[in-house]
Amino acid sequence: MPTYDYRCRKCGHRFELQHSIKDETPKRCPKCRGRAGRVPARGAGLLFKGSGFHATDYRSKSYKEKAKQEKSGGSPGTESKSPKGD
Ligand SMILES: [Zn+2]
Repeated sequence: MPTYDYRCRKCGHRFELQHSIKDETPKRCPKCRGRAGRVPARGAGLLFKGSGFHATDYRSKSYKEKAKQEKSGGSPGTESKSPKGD
């Protein structure tokens, strides 16, 4: 089970919690019982999830724009490459 870093939004107390990756229930600060937010630091899965989504979005956008440019430029060879589902 992965360990997550949490920081209290009320008092700033930082603590660690071990729970399932599927557990999305809001966590409470053990000191003041205020609501705590997850600190995205070393959770590999979390990091991948966050930046991966962005990178995919960026890549597909630039890819489409590049393909459009190549088409309008009329460079040979690009037309035979039919776009396969990403
Ligand atoms: Zn607190």
